Amino acid sequence: MKALVLGGDRTLQLVDRPRPACSAPDDVVLRVEQTGICGTDRGVLLGKFPAEPGVVMGHEAVGEVVETGAGVSTVKPGDRVIVNPTLYCGLCDPCRNGTLNFCVNKAGTEIGIDRDGAFAEYMRLEERFLHRMPDDMPYDRAVLAEPLACVMNNLEAAGLRPGDRVAVLGGGPIGTLVALLADHYGAPVRLLETDPFRRDAAEAFLHGVPGCAVAVGEPGDAAPRSADVVVDTVGSLLAEGCALAADLGRVVVMGFDERATATVRPLELLQRGLRIVGAGDYNSLLFARAVRTAHRLPLEGLVSHHFGLDRIDAALTALGVGSGAAYAGMKVVVKPGAAA
Ligand SMILES: [Zn+2]
Ligand SMILES: [Zn+2]
Repeated sequence: MKALVLGGDRTLQLVDRPRPACSAPDDVVLRVEQTGICGTDRGVLLGKFPAEPGVVMGHEAVGEVVETGAGVSTVKPGDRVIVNPTLYCGLCDPCRNGTLNFCVNKAGTEIGIDRDGAFAEYMRLEERFLHRMPDDMPYDRAVLAEPLACVMNNLEAAGLRPGDRVAVLGGGPIGTLVALLADHYGAPVRLLETDPFRRDAAEAFLHGVPGCAVAVGEPGDAAPRSADVVVDTVGSLLAEGCALAADLGRVVVMGFDERATATVRPLELLQRGLRIVGAGDYNSLLFARAVRTAHRLPLEGLVSHHFGLDRIDAALTALGVGSGAAYAGMKVVVKPGAAA
């Protein structure tokens, strides 16, 4: 099969790999229908997030079951499924305490980071990490269920309540999903983005969702200390987030940037009752709920491009990766079956 593998120079190479087959009784092999390119994937290629050279990248995947191990009972060949790529062992202390996203055995099991992922024609995964798609759910909606799970987890960790004023920093797919879901929860939301393409794209998508009232603008549009919940989806804006937070506000750090540092004033946290929230990706226990929520939201409007595996360079250019490239897409999806 064809697959996109991370090279030592942080580029993606199209290679031939053996097609995976079931070996354990709970194994399932999928034909990958499509896989979203995540901000994390972009971060890996830009040197902002570590990954293992040689790995098949890609984790936001949907596909069709083609083969099942002898012990598999919940899916069968022909079923359409969504991949939950946040694997956990179920046996370590954090797993036994129910905090599955802090599994200590994650190293070596992060799909598309240090274990082969979904920028490929086929992939193999244990049955328990697959969720059947509702019959009437389009693949373009389903491919956003995993990002929505991350967003749900972070908003819930912030203790978001209806009526809380929310400021979202960054108007990429994740920031736009944060804004949409917070609006769905009954919060007034302001989405702040510096890039004009992304600002316009986020606004066009959100205003196309019936009833959605998110205000989209530039960072300077929000008054200091005006938000009860601030979500930094960029990953390097903690200090700016604290400045935007009202007294007793919660500032959620959500974007991944291993190079970012921030200066916060402990006395300000203390006197203003601010809380900084880190919530990781998501606990797998909420994934089924994220699929049900995704089923009800017109998320497919965020998908701006589909590219075959052989057109990964064009896909990355649309995401502003490469010299002189600027953002020209929102959720860009790799579709292995697309004609060259
Ligand atoms: Zn992702
Ligand atoms: Zn574990």
